[in-house]
Order: sequence, then structure tokens, then C-alpha cells
Amino acid sequence: MFVSLTAVHACVFATLALLVGAIRIGMRKESALSWMVAALLCGTTEMLVLALARHGRGELLAAMLLVPPAYLCFGQALRISTGGRQNWGLIGTSIGLVLCALALMAAGAPFVLMTIPFQLGCALALADGITHLGRRPEGIIDRALLGCLCLLATLFLIRIPLYPALFGVDVHYAAVMPSAFERSLLLVSALLTPPSIFLLLAKIIMGIIARYRLRAERDHLTGVLNRQAFEQAVRAEPLRGGSVIFCDIDRFKRVNDRYGHHVGDEVIRLFADILAATGFRVGRLGGEEFAIFLPGNSASDAAGLAEVLRMHFHNSTHDALTSDHRLSASFGVADYAQNEAPAEALIRADVALYRAKGEGRNRVAVFHAWSLVPVVQEPPRAAA
Ligand code: GH3
Ligand code: MG
Ligand code: MG
Repeated sequence: MFVSLTAVHACVFATLALLVGAIRIGMRKESALSWMVAALLCGTTEMLVLALARHGRGELLAAMLLVPPAYLCFGQALRISTGGRQNWGLIGTSIGLVLCALALMAAGAPFVLMTIPFQLGCALALADGITHLGRRPEGIIDRALLGCLCLLATLFLIRIPLYPALFGVDVHYAAVMPSAFERSLLLVSALLTPPSIFLLLAKIIMGIIARYRLRAERDHLTGVLNRQAFEQAVRAEPLRGGSVIFCDIDRFKRVNDRYGHHVGDEVIRLFADILAATGFRVGRLGGEEFAIFLPGNSASDAAGLAEVLRMHFHNSTHDALTSDHRLSASFGVADYAQNEAPAEALIRADVALYRAKGEGRNRVAVFHAWSLVPVVQEPPRAAA
């Protein structure tokens, strides 16, 4: 039963190492996957040694050399997947504990003594991951993983007092290994390890997918939704009426021509930050052109908000601009009825924006569906 379980584990770990390694090669800068591959390779080698050679000193040596690094790499993968960094202090401590166990082994120290740094090294590697994950567990995967890891760490720690208590201080590993106590602990570890690996892999891959999805939906310059994601959000909205605002920075080409493209980029970012601070969904539809989606809000609410945004941007300054340079943007507002698709309002808001530009820029124009004629609001005079 035990041999077959280790052989199964060796096959599972090796297959996963190949699979995760292939995914890692396809993705750059995913160090959690690199640590996972290292953990799986250590686990595969350890399982092969366990399956082939039994109850020997070599087996003990292999466990000393491979098990703590396997848990250490697993713990580092967990740290990184929860937003942490590699813990070089812990890596150094683990190496020190393994060396200490090896030195005790070479010096012929009793098994119950030399196993202490080994068990501590494994428990410490897991405890590091547990503390990281335990700070903010999110969802069922995190909680299940936390449970498995706490049990695994406990299995290492209880061996330290229980080995001498159950077998005496002069016992050899060869006598401990076949005991019902040790076999039970190994069996529980063997049953907990694959689910822990699968749960961590699921966590890492879900994190990667979420990051890539966010990157695919966001405009890289401003962080607001890109055109495709914005239009998708508008299409997905249930029919309940609302408004949209279309806006465009005025005479932006002059900013680029006068101060350079990089300053132009910063002005676009400044404008996007002002729009994003409203809390509504904002999309960058083109170079310096944005849209704000306000489901459930009337055209007059949207026009009021657009007027606030217009004034805010007009009163904004940027270090790279000369003091006499006043930024401005034009806004087009349109609403949509309860039984109407919001996308229709985007077209009308664009017409209103075009009108605001034509009427002299730096203003808000509202498109009224019933009259099909944009109404231009004169901007209040700027304070002297
Ligand atoms: P209007 O008041 O009519 O909107 O005039 P405008 O100069 O703002 O509009 P126009 O369409 O003539 O120029 C927009 C410029 O925006 C042209 C393009 O080079 C620039 N642009 C587009 N995308 C970016 C970008 O990502 N960064 C920078 N810096 N400039 C951009
Ligand atoms: Mg413009
Ligand atoms: Mg434009």
C-alpha cells in the first residue's frame, strides 16, 4: 500500500512538474510557478527514493536533503501567490537547519536529536506560507489550503516530542519507519500533500488569469477600461435607463506639439484620473477621448456631473505646462430610456460632444432624444 502510494505520488508530482514547467516557460515573470516546479521536482525525487530504496540510511539522507527544500519551495510559491516576496531569511534558516541535521547525522547523533532540525525546517517552511495566507484568506480555496497546511505542519511538529516519548531516545530510524505511528503520519501527509499542491496550483493559476484579464480590460496608460471592455460593460448592462457622457480634451494636439508626447500622455492621465474619481465606469475610447457610463442617472444628473468635471479639469495645472496654459475639455451628454440599449446613447452623446466642440469647446452639451437637437450649456465664467 505504502510503496504503491509513493509510486503514484512520484508519477503525479513528475507529471505536474512537467505541466507547470511548460506553463512557466510560456509565461514570463511568474516566479510562483518556478518555485512550484522546484517543489515538485524535489517531491518527485524523494518519492522515487522512497519507492525504490526502503528503510536504509540513504533513504533518511534523501529525506533530509529533499523534504525541507520541497516544503520551502512550496511555501515560497504560496508567499508569492499571496502578493509577498521571496523570504531569503527563511531560505537561509532552512538551509542552516538541513546542514545542522546532516552534521548531527555525520556525527552519529541519536535519531531523535538529528530529526529535530529536519522537522523544524519543514514546519517553519509551512508556517511561513500559513502566516502569509492566514492574514487574508479569500474564498474556499484559500481556506481549504490553510487547513491542509496547518495539519501538515502539525504532523512535523508533533514528531519532535512523540518520537522520544514513544520509541525512547536511542531508537533508530529503521525501527521508527515501520511502526504504526510513523506509517499513520506518513499516510496522512501523503493524503494531504496532493490536495495542497492542487489547491496552490489552482490559486496561482486563478491569480494569473485574473491579472491577465485585468490587463486585457484596462487601458495601459490611464488604468481606466479600454474601448472594448467599456463597450462590453455597456452592452452587458440590464435595460433600466440611464445616461452616458462623452468627453474629449480640447486642442490636445497643441499640447503634444508644444510640450512633447510624454507631457501629452501625462495630461491624458490627469484627465482620466479626474473622470475615474467619480466612481462610475470610465472608458478610454481613443487618444484623448473618454466616456463615462451612468446607468440609472438622468441626463440632467449626468450634465451636472459633466459640468463639475469640466471645471475641475479647466482649473487643473501640471508642472510641465506653462502657467498661462489652461487645459479644457468638451462634454456631450445623452440619456437612454428604460427599454433602450445604452449603446444608442453613446452615439447621441458623440453627436452632443461634436456640437459642444462646434460651439466653441470647454462646455457641456446635452442631447435631448425627443428633439434630436443638442442643447448647448454655456459654461459659467471662470473666476477672475
Ligand atoms: P479638438 O479640440 O477638436 O479635440 O482638437 P484636438 O487637437 O484635441 O484633436 P485632434 O484629433 O486633432 O488631435 C488629437 C491628438 O491626440 C492627435 C494624436 O497625435 C494625439 N494622441 C492620440 N493618442 C495619444 C496618446 O496616447 N498620447 C499622446 N500624447 N497623444 C495622443
Ligand atoms: Mg481633442
Ligand atoms: Mg479626439
